[in-house]
Amino acid sequence: MVPTGKIGNITWHRIVEAEGPEFDINFLLPDAPTEAINAHRDWMEPRFLEPGTNKLIMATQSYLLRTLHHNILIDTCVGNDKERRFYPPWSGQSGTKFVDNLHATGLYVDDIDFVICTHLHADHVGWNTRLLEGCWVPTFPNARYVFAKSEYEFWVDLNKKGKKYSDGCIDDSVLPLVEAGLVDIVSDDYKFNESIWFERTPGHTPGHVSIRIRSNGANAIIAGDVLHTPLQLREPRWSAIGCSDRLKSAETRCAFLERYCDTDTLIMPEHFPSPSVGYIRRDGGSYGFVFSD
Ligand SMILES: [Zn+2]
Repeated sequence: MVPTGKIGNITWHRIVEAEGPEFDINFLLPDAPTEAINAHRDWMEPRFLEPGTNKLIMATQSYLLRTLHHNILIDTCVGNDKERRFYPPWSGQSGTKFVDNLHATGLYVDDIDFVICTHLHADHVGWNTRLLEGCWVPTFPNARYVFAKSEYEFWVDLNKKGKKYSDGCIDDSVLPLVEAGLVDIVSDDYKFNESIWFERTPGHTPGHVSIRIRSNGANAIIAGDVLHTPLQLREPRWSAIGCSDRLKSAETRCAFLERYCDTDTLIMPEHFPSPSVGYIRRDGGSYGFVFSD
């Protein structure tokens, strides 16, 4: 069964590529003192932190939005056959069930009309392309691939200094789409339609955006990497290793948590373990995440 829900007239599915113990918590959250992490073990273990290994339980997943008119895929995980250095398990990955999980919704790769990436990190662009006879080709041949201007320009410029700066993912998962003529570069506050628009959430990357959704009075936001683990609701100042500006990332996260705290907006993070989605609630001096089942 593919995890599914509704936001007004829009149906969403979580398309999971992987879920389980991943990054060591001290590696992922370099701003977090070990003693301060230890104070959270009682509620973190074992659901969000694997006892013994110190690894965070995380998901790598996409969100598929089905509107009355379009099938829109938000972010595309790590992908197969990509060469990566940042996190070795991502390198040369094959045999994941990502495409099968997409097919389980009744849609095929040909049915995707738009692919939107919240940012251009390796675990959010991977399935943009697949390897076919030694070439990277678009996985979703009928889709327009939509990227925010600041994010696209930042990474493509940086990539000109060498592909190591993007861990190869601009070369193999973004530029082949440009060559195929499938890319639309849009403003950072792009409005896809009345129900779906970008909200600027810079810090994790310079042009990072979250995807705001409103339909028939229901509200949601696909957070991207504003949040990596529920621990960041208790400790909003702790940014992640991958953040290009950890201070800015913390500011954005604090503002995001305050903006959506105690509202009816469904928060859809990409790396929280199943069921992944829920609501931000005030909890003493900080915040808590109430998962929705
Ligand atoms: Zn990520």
